[in-house]
Amino acid sequence: MPQHHLSCHCGAVQLDAELDLTNLAVCNCSICGRVGAIMAFVPADQLTNIVGEDHQTDYQFASKRIHHAFCRVCGVRTFAHGPGPDGREWAMVNVRCVEGIDANTLEIARKFDGKSL
Ligand SMILES: [Zn+2]
Repeated sequence: MPQHHLSCHCGAVQLDAELDLTNLAVCNCSICGRVGAIMAFVPADQLTNIVGEDHQTDYQFASKRIHHAFCRVCGVRTFAHGPGPDGREWAMVNVRCVEGIDANTLEIARKFDGKSL
């Protein structure tokens, strides 16, 4: 899979990740619906060259399993992370933060009904 570079709006938070842009999801839960992220799921240990984690503010709610971190300078969420069904830590990468692509041209493979959970 191709390697992609992601950044928040102000550039304080940056990272690299191999992302499958043919298997993207959106979610209608109370936070994803508001954020508007288009997500690619990857094991968290596959995120590399992470810069600016000290600029992130963590946000958790309800079961507090997922870390909905965002850049405290510009407010953009580049990725969230939390335990997956396999017990591993997974990242939900916001492909709207991938540099060099037009996220509006991407196909959404899955619409996750998080609102019903
Ligand atoms: Zn930022």
